[in-house]
Amino acid sequence: ALPIITPLVAGNWKMHGLLKDLEEARHLQALLTENPAQAEVLLCPPATLIHPMTAILRGGLVSVGAQDCHSLEKGAHTGDISAKMLADLGARYVIVGHSERREDHNETSEQVREKALAAHNATLCAIICVGETLSQRDAGWAEKIVLDQLAHSVPDGATASNTVIAYEPIWAIGTGRIPKPEDVAVMHQTIRDHLADRFALGDQMRILYGGSVKASNAHILMAVPNVNGALVGGSSLKALDFNGILDAYR
Ligand code: PGA
Repeated sequence: ALPIITPLVAGNWKMHGLLKDLEEARHLQALLTENPAQAEVLLCPPATLIHPMTAILRGGLVSVGAQDCHSLEKGAHTGDISAKMLADLGARYVIVGHSERREDHNETSEQVREKALAAHNATLCAIICVGETLSQRDAGWAEKIVLDQLAHSVPDGATASNTVIAYEPIWAIGTGRIPKPEDVAVMHQTIRDHLADRFALGDQMRILYGGSVKASNAHILMAVPNVNGALVGGSSLKALDFNGILDAYR
């Protein structure tokens, strides 16, 4: 029998959002309560909004996550936030290894793996991001690059409940360009094969697609085999935009 996977649609607010924008989270939850989707729904605001957002969304259909964590539980690391602290605030997920962190903060796959482990130890689900640049794709290396990132970024203790993979081709992030559905299918099958080889329930681990997902393309992208949801940036900031994406699961 085919495993039943509950899709996850996660919004990554990146460095956007002030207290007044919590209204968008409240509005999203109201829209979802009125018209539920067959998917888990998550918002990952900046760390400053995690606590007030969990207070607003408590008991509802939208969960809250973070965008990064430190690999250690505590210590002399000025400005950093541990996974345990995020869990303490009510976060249930944390994104690790987003391409913007790999680039802006020179994060390596080994560091990403340590962060994912810290998330697991704090009982958070880690959303581990992978993806190739345009020049890597043009050179025909996309699958090889992503397999290398998976091999080094996903810890051995990953399970279908504590880990989600997000495939985000870097050239599709914030550009309005998306890959051809057949290219997404090839990449997600490649990722699925890696997970199924390495993990007992690797066939049930969720693999999200991310990069310029919006209401007008979500139906096509979410229908691709082995796409178990989306990681959404720009279109997650407004409740109506994000709700339009959720229509792919209604
Ligand atoms: P985008 O960002 O939806 O704005 O392209 C996706 C992401 O970086 O997670």
